[in-house]
Amino acid sequence: MTDTLHLDKRQRAMLAEMGVRVWSPMSEAAVMGAPAEEAHSFAAASELATQAIANAAGYDAAAHQMSGAVPAPVAKAQPEVAPIIIQRPEGIDQMDWSALHSTVSGCQACTLCGSRQNTVFGVGAPAAEGETPQVDWLIVGETPGEDEDRQGEPFVGQAGKLLDNMLGAMKLSRTGVRTAEGGGVYIANVLKCRPPGNRNPKPEEVAQCLPYLERQVALLKPKMILAIGRFAVQALLRDSMPEVDTTPVGKLRGRVHQYQGVPVVVTYHPNYVLRNLPEKAKVWADLCLAMAHLKGSE
Ligand code: URA
Repeated sequence: MTDTLHLDKRQRAMLAEMGVRVWSPMSEAAVMGAPAEEAHSFAAASELATQAIANAAGYDAAAHQMSGAVPAPVAKAQPEVAPIIIQRPEGIDQMDWSALHSTVSGCQACTLCGSRQNTVFGVGAPAAEGETPQVDWLIVGETPGEDEDRQGEPFVGQAGKLLDNMLGAMKLSRTGVRTAEGGGVYIANVLKCRPPGNRNPKPEEVAQCLPYLERQVALLKPKMILAIGRFAVQALLRDSMPEVDTTPVGKLRGRVHQYQGVPVVVTYHPNYVLRNLPEKAKVWADLCLAMAHLKGSE
């Protein structure tokens, strides 16, 4: 089931009155911590909700007819709607690449599922159906933008062109295979869905999505992670560096960090570089640091 059930506030209130429990994105507690057994399956919730709303609507219409005093309904603006949130499945940390991919494709664990066109799992070295790509490099960006959402692939807009040029300068490419000399790249984001209007990701969205990236790292076993942009840096380094949220990216450059035992080099996001072209030299310095570290560790 991949549909998203949309309910407005009035419908949610009606359902609550009727004792029908649904996952509500309005409630952060539900998103972040409610136990699995409390979650209705999407199908069951959907069926109950649809039936309950239809019943309630029928009752209203009848009451209005009987009184005869209620004016004909006037067309109203579309109510604000929000998708029902379905808890992430258990066992992400045990999934293989294809199970992980299809779980992400059907994910409804935060409100972004209601506005996305496509999930953006990642792109990289070609691999046999269902197999994990063999790569030395994992590039971690922040969130898909409009182009990425439309195409279902990370970094396909202007920022992507710059990223491709950066990779080219390192004699790598987004779909190049790993050879005896190394190489092989995978590109993924912290969020797999686009925040509407390209706004910044919310902490609860990052918290919901991060297990997918964690599993991608565990399966890919890259030799080097390049974290590009503030939200990628924060997501990857938060556990090892509590002060990361208040530390500018510029202060985290120039050294090698760790994430799940994998070296991490931090650099500026291509979107930032496009607005501040002189910073390109610093990005090149970061790429050189990452390449030198990788070479030294072999
Ligand atoms: N910026 C990102 O961080 N990721 C993308 O996929 C595109 C732009």
